[in-house]
Amino acid sequence: MEVNCEGCAGCCIDWRPLAAAPDRQDHERRGPHRPLDDTYNLVPLTRETVRRYCEEGLGDALVPRLWLAEDDHAVTIDGHQVAAVGGKPAFFVGLRKPPKPVAPFGIDGARWLRTCVFLDPATLQCRVHGSELYPTECAEYPGHNLVLDRETECERVEAAYGGDRLVDDEPPGSTAGLLLGPQALGEKVFVHPDPDSLDGVVQRAVTRGLTRADRAEFVATAAASAPGTTERSESHYERYRDLALGADSWVGQASRDWEALAGGVGTPVSTSVLGTTVEEDRGAPATPGWDAVE
Ligand code: SF4
Ligand code: SF4
Repeated sequence: MEVNCEGCAGCCIDWRPLAAAPDRQDHERRGPHRPLDDTYNLVPLTRETVRRYCEEGLGDALVPRLWLAEDDHAVTIDGHQVAAVGGKPAFFVGLRKPPKPVAPFGIDGARWLRTCVFLDPATLQCRVHGSELYPTECAEYPGHNLVLDRETECERVEAAYGGDRLVDDEPPGSTAGLLLGPQALGEKVFVHPDPDSLDGVVQRAVTRGLTRADRAEFVATAAASAPGTTERSESHYERYRDLALGADSWVGQASRDWEALAGGVGTPVSTSVLGTTVEEDRGAPATPGWDAVE
């Protein structure tokens, strides 16, 4: 597997507003159910990574994902049939995607597009690449797709903008982060023990209106989960909930700044905003630029 990522970031940016094809709406679904939210390519994190984020004061970078289910494996909350395991709502934890001024694929001028909190909008490089905070899912992308013989984001970018993004499509020999089925429970898929306490929360998940407390509730539950079970350690839950609630990192601060500055999603970025260093001003680690990589 070999990819050409310079000037791309197609797997880090929700570039649907640039793409005419409506079939790009729901392509990278993981598992049988439709997500409750509309986030594109949410990167699911493992329990250990969620813990690490909390311990590094970055719990405010995280957001949960729940799913809809139309079968018996669902619990009704806020009028939505939420996918559940044994009556307990199931969820992932991923990285938030605030709108940022980005110009991927050589487009003519920057647009406001929902973008991973860790993508440097100027260089289109990942600020946590290669660090302990770098998600396994990102390190191995698009390896899981190649193993499962599913179209990759690299190929979608090629189809829309040309160029050679997926340079070598040989599936990788091993993919440590490819957790499927029961082994994902408590490692990457978590359950919330108390559906009654989620009244109002589920509706806010649908409308991108989750509060800091809502997000902390799921983050702490994931961090306190036990592998292979639906159990939650209450002492771990309390600890990680305090960490997530107290997080006030450059990520959370910059996300608020971007939300305040942004025009409508997909709209051109005004010249007064271009070149602003919102994230660096809040303490984000720099990216090296592409010359340093080659
Ligand atoms: S963590 Fe880095 S590689 Fe992964 S989606 Fe975010 S910016 Fe992209
Ligand atoms: S879509 Fe493919 S080529 Fe583009 S940044 Fe992601 S991995 Fe790299």
